[in-house]
Amino acid sequence: MAHAHASIVDAPAAGPASASALVCALPHAAWLVALPQAVVVAANEAAARLLGRPVGELVGAPAQQLAASPEDLAWWAAMAGSGWRSSGCPTEGPVAPLLDSDTVFAAAAGQARHVRRSISLVPDEADTGRAWALVMVIDRTPEQAVDAEREARVAELEATLESAADGLLVTDLAGGLRSFNRRFAAMWGLPDELLRARDDAGIVAWMQRSVLEPGAYAQRLRTLFDSPLLAATDRVALLGGPVFERVTRPLWRDGRPQGRVWAYRDLSERLAAEERIETLSSTDPLTGLPNRRVMSGWVEAAAQASGGSGEGRQGFAVMVVDLDHFRQINVSLGHAMGDRVLRHVGERLQGCLRDDDRLARIGGDQFGVLLTGADARAAEATARRMLNVVAQPCALEGATFTLTCSIGIALAPAHGRSADELARHAEAAMRAVKQAGRANVRLHQARAEVDRRSHMMLDHAMRQALVSGRFRLAYQPQVSLADGRIVGAEALLRWRDPELGEVPPARFIPVAEESGFIVAIGDWVLAQAVRQAALWHQRGWQVPVAVNVSALQFHQAQFVERVASVLAVAALPPRLLELELTESILVHDADEALARLHELHRLGARMSIDDFGTGYSSLAYLKRFPIGKLKIDRSFVQGLPGDETDAGIVRAILQMSLALDMRVIAEGVETEQQREFLVREGCAEMQGYLYAPALDPLSFEQRLAQSRVDEAGPAQPGAGAPGQRIRLVRG
Ligand code: C2E
Ligand code: MG
Ligand code: MG
Repeated sequence: MAHAHASIVDAPAAGPASASALVCALPHAAWLVALPQAVVVAANEAAARLLGRPVGELVGAPAQQLAASPEDLAWWAAMAGSGWRSSGCPTEGPVAPLLDSDTVFAAAAGQARHVRRSISLVPDEADTGRAWALVMVIDRTPEQAVDAEREARVAELEATLESAADGLLVTDLAGGLRSFNRRFAAMWGLPDELLRARDDAGIVAWMQRSVLEPGAYAQRLRTLFDSPLLAATDRVALLGGPVFERVTRPLWRDGRPQGRVWAYRDLSERLAAEERIETLSSTDPLTGLPNRRVMSGWVEAAAQASGGSGEGRQGFAVMVVDLDHFRQINVSLGHAMGDRVLRHVGERLQGCLRDDDRLARIGGDQFGVLLTGADARAAEATARRMLNVVAQPCALEGATFTLTCSIGIALAPAHGRSADELARHAEAAMRAVKQAGRANVRLHQARAEVDRRSHMMLDHAMRQALVSGRFRLAYQPQVSLADGRIVGAEALLRWRDPELGEVPPARFIPVAEESGFIVAIGDWVLAQAVRQAALWHQRGWQVPVAVNVSALQFHQAQFVERVASVLAVAALPPRLLELELTESILVHDADEALARLHELHRLGARMSIDDFGTGYSSLAYLKRFPIGKLKIDRSFVQGLPGDETDAGIVRAILQMSLALDMRVIAEGVETEQQREFLVREGCAEMQGYLYAPALDPLSFEQRLAQSRVDEAGPAQPGAGAPGQRIRLVRG
């Protein structure tokens, strides 16, 4: 502030005229006060404007009236009390102000003005004994408003930064710290000592030490500081888990980058939430295993990895594991227990897998497995292990039970390349296991689909054959081992198709059984065979005819009535009809089968068990049924007499038949050695190519006539050498 230095040249009582002129010339408000009266003797226009009173009104006014702040009043009072002389006044050199401070004036219209006010003594150079004080006032109200506004702004900004959820840091161009907010300090866990000491280098080092990858972090910082104009967003992972999103922008001032602003946002919670969502959408909540969606993803990825050509190609296996009769667990033990069992099974299955293999729960009681780098053998071995562990008894909450599972396997790339295709094949293989009796494993058969189509075509052709009369029956003689006489005939179905040629029963019977068409075929065979037997009967030949009966046919509600009616219509004595049943008929629904067998028995028909030994019949079982005859399956006859096992089985069957009082016929006898063994072991009858294959009715009749002639002919060497009378006929 410029201080006025007025020289009093001549000193009138009212005040020096030159001093008045000087006051008027000053750029700021000023007035001259005569001492010791403290009366204003001169004032300028600026003072009149500031105080809102004309100059004329100001002159003559007491000094305390013009500037009446407590400080001013106190000064004038002190001045009056002490006497102006005592305050001293240098006669030489610049005059120092006696009072110089900021204060507030009540100005024109009662407005408060922020001012800088100074009071200086005007030296009495002429030594007139009179003195003056010069009051000068600079209005700082506009500046003061700007300052106040700036302060308010800064305060607001600080409050804003402090309340920001992000950690904020400002650095200069060289990376030196300029400022940061508390959130920044908290996020980085800056220790109090560093903050108190404002140890910037320590803070930078602390940050460097806190990150997960210090090398990459430092490299990134260098890049950013080397490019002051670069704006960037990236992530910083800290030791111990937190992950920050870091946004940095250049800090501009005067059109030039002055440094950088860094904003850190803690992503940990968001990432954790994302992870939770991802987990929920990909995990089966019951077992904690990945779900079907994830399983599809694995298979798709594996298929893609194996899809390329060259060295890296690797096959893999997809398995579907389905628990057998799991519903029973839920029904009998409750759903809570069912849940526990599923978790338990999941753990057992996991235990069978290598680290690279993957297990998922893909349905209610269904698990999916991906075996990497597995071929058919490896997959089957793993599946067998799984069957085994699942079948271990379970003891949960006091209940002990045993579970089994059915497993289907599809191999990539042999069985398919897409996740969908492989899953479909594995599932179909699993269904096939279920159909075949469960608790087993099966590999997808690439042929299965082809088979299904050819089955459909065959089924269609069979239906055509029946209505077009292309089926016929052939009769295979059954011969007494004692004397070689024909004691019966087995009716065997023959089919020559115009396109397919001669179709063997082993090929079309299973298809007919599957489609149910066997019922219609069986009905035709029964009627046809009974008619033939009746015809022979009318000609005086008492030849029992054996008819093969399928399980499905046997279980038809009207089966017994049907047999009775066919016999009645043909007027065939029932004892000349033999029904060949399979063991499966007796095992399946035994009580119903037993009732039906008794009805047939009462009717007078004979019954035998075909292919005996291949099923599950036990001795105790057979005792209950009115069965007159066992037919030893061809497979046991084949190895006779050399194969010990076959020989043992045949002997056992023969002994058993004695105990049960049943007759026995051996099927598929082809050699003299087989026949001799059977004779030796006491078997009564045989059937096989050694004597004759299945013959058309005419040929059969000729053999029959021949057999009767032999019987009625000249005396034979006896029952001991029947072989001489049996001619080997091969069809
Ligand atoms: P199956 O009832 O065990 O019939 C005996 C099968 O053994 C017949 O085959 C017969 O030709 C064959 N065979 C007889 N002697 C010998 C021999 O010495 N060596 C060999 N290797 N085989 C011999 P086929 O006629 O091909 O019949 C096969 C099966 O088809 C039958 O086995 C039977 O289960 C079924 N089948 C045949 N006709 C009918 C029928 O009318 N109804 C039903 N439901 N099934 C039938
Ligand atoms: Mg048979
Ligand atoms: Mg048989």
